[in-house]
Amino acid sequence: MDNGNKIIFLGTNGWYDTDTGNTISILVDCRDYSIILDAGIGIYKLDKYIDFSKPAFLFLSHFHLDHLYGLHILNKFSFKKGLTIFGQEGTKGILDIIVNTPFSMPMDKLPYRTDVLEVPGETTALPFYSEVLPMEHTSPTLGLRIIVDDKIITYCPDTGLCSNALSLARNADILIAECAYRPGEIHNSWPHLNPESAASIAKESGAKNLFLVHFDASRYKDRESRVDAEKAAQKIFPAAIACFDGLTIGF
Ligand SMILES: [Zn+2]
Ligand SMILES: [Zn+2]
Repeated sequence: MDNGNKIIFLGTNGWYDTDTGNTISILVDCRDYSIILDAGIGIYKLDKYIDFSKPAFLFLSHFHLDHLYGLHILNKFSFKKGLTIFGQEGTKGILDIIVNTPFSMPMDKLPYRTDVLEVPGETTALPFYSEVLPMEHTSPTLGLRIIVDDKIITYCPDTGLCSNALSLARNADILIAECAYRPGEIHNSWPHLNPESAASIAKESGAKNLFLVHFDASRYKDRESRVDAEKAAQKIFPAAIACFDGLTIGF
């Protein structure tokens, strides 16, 4: 089962940073690539874990700032084989604004080569299998399913319970899903998962496990509240785990 690969949860908060965690960013450290899921402030820890000699790929699920505001830290890193950022249609235009003066160092001044791909249109330019589908959120958002080193990894970022999340998670070896809301909490005007809905995606899709991330900073104020979420999820899907910053898993 274990290929010697790792997933490191760099940031596991939604919305803003707290003493419990930084905003969302996850490193998938595979044999041939480094794949980073979203660029919240947690991304600042990347150089503690990453092998910069591998080509790096950064997936941006959507343009809400808690998933983007670590982009101004990109000049801290030294990707020797370059960095490819991929996200939905419009990503190039957004990066041209945010990763540019006056907000941050312009992309073309970063100390390594960068490329931007808009998916699904340019999915085939990625060197690994990748599938994206729209999530249900207040801003257009893509969920991601990748296959690396024969493992299916699914990332369900900000979303309500939807069939696309189920589809991306089918038989996943590793399912990472957001959990912004507290147990039992639902707001149809601002869709997010709660522990139970995330667990139902894992159960119905046949995923092997479930890693909960993106705990809303105002709702999950301490570690105990995340443990409560884990317990609520485990009632539906026993292999559910609430993530904390720094958690590392092998795959
Ligand atoms: Zn978010
Ligand atoms: Zn969002």
